[in-house]
Amino acid sequence: MLNAVAEPMKDLVPPPPSIVRNDVAAVQALFQRHVVPSYGRFDLVLSHGRGSWVFDLAGQRYLDLGGGIAVSTLGHAHPAITEALVEQSTKLIHTSNFYYHEPQGRLAQALVKHLGPGKCFFCNSGVEANEGLFKLARKFGHDEGRFEIITASNSFHGRTLAAIAATGQDKVKKGFEPMVPGFRQVPYNDLAALRAALSPATVAILVEGVQGEGGVTPARPEYLLGLRQLCDQHNLLLLMDGVQDGHFRTGRFQSFQRILEGRGDSFLPDGVAMAKALGGGFPMGAFWVRAPYADLLGPGTHGTTYGGSPLACAVALKILEVIEREKLADNARQMGDFFKAGLEQLARKYPAVIAHVRGLGLMLGLELTPDLPKLPGDSAKSQAVRFTNLLHAAGLLAIPAGSQILRFLPPLNLQATEAQEGLRILESVIAGLAN
Ligand code: PLP
Repeated sequence: MLNAVAEPMKDLVPPPPSIVRNDVAAVQALFQRHVVPSYGRFDLVLSHGRGSWVFDLAGQRYLDLGGGIAVSTLGHAHPAITEALVEQSTKLIHTSNFYYHEPQGRLAQALVKHLGPGKCFFCNSGVEANEGLFKLARKFGHDEGRFEIITASNSFHGRTLAAIAATGQDKVKKGFEPMVPGFRQVPYNDLAALRAALSPATVAILVEGVQGEGGVTPARPEYLLGLRQLCDQHNLLLLMDGVQDGHFRTGRFQSFQRILEGRGDSFLPDGVAMAKALGGGFPMGAFWVRAPYADLLGPGTHGTTYGGSPLACAVALKILEVIEREKLADNARQMGDFFKAGLEQLARKYPAVIAHVRGLGLMLGLELTPDLPKLPGDSAKSQAVRFTNLLHAAGLLAIPAGSQILRFLPPLNLQATEAQEGLRILESVIAGLAN
């Protein structure tokens, strides 16, 4: 099957013109001249990947433990994704949402099965999934004049105007004031602060089960249970942003399911935002809304041209199929435990470099000590970025979070030998700093 797919792909994707072939400087010059410089990019120019590995233009390979920021569910160039893309594209790529098609209906059914009674809306990214939840909340409270959504300090919910207002980090808001009204932040994992922040205008609470960009901080079980109670008492919607920590990354479909293991399975939020690993690199997002509120967004209230296209849904369905067939939720849990134990061992061995290790499943964070001497490299960049550059030089990709934290968000099918190799590379870099 793989060969049957790989052969026609060769013809479909012609080799790049010579200006960008094997020429790092030429590619970077194209970006400098023609791409809006809104990202602080690393110096790498990547060309292809396979499984948990990516290769740069010079053929240097890197173990990709960043997973494209928690996106590459099955790693790079997975034959099942290629197969789904090719097969579906020979039938129907796009329809618009004027019409029905089977893949969207089947994907909604599968996501509902993993969450609970309710319905799904499909979009193209994480921020759009959150935007849909914001609109759901506004609609819910509209006739009573309630509109305010309370979110958490250090949270991250995306880059649109509403999402930066929702995000609990000043750096994403700076220069874009005035903020969209109706969002307020209170400290994470702090129920008392949340209770004190409620006002007659409050309509919803939105939190991540594990804060990702904020530094890999899991919610405490009591916090989640308390949020549910608070929302029930005050007729508020409890919304969860599962964009980064969702899709089996923590060993369960959503992180709240993992965090609340052993506490009964009765906890359900009222809305969940999904994206990233859902499409495994094919851009797609979704939100699920619990049954009592599932018809709030009626015809004409919300929409998108591309969302839930047959192609996107075919890919997402295939990813779910592979996750189930290959028991990747269990793998995420086991590899996560293994990798975390390795990180903790490194933290014990090199306390002058590593301050903390935290996270769940394959969403792990390593915090550098604040008194670590300035790392080599551009001093305008954070320690986390300079540490990441050292990892790149040693053949490992990881994702910085904040100024002191490294994140590991690898494919869910990470192998034990790859996790071991990752720990070996990390130790080689850390040992070099500790000496
Ligand atoms: N929510 C969370 C928790 C995220 O981590 C992100 C992206 O990192 C987003 C929302 C935004 O997703 P996207 O970049 O797909 O719009």
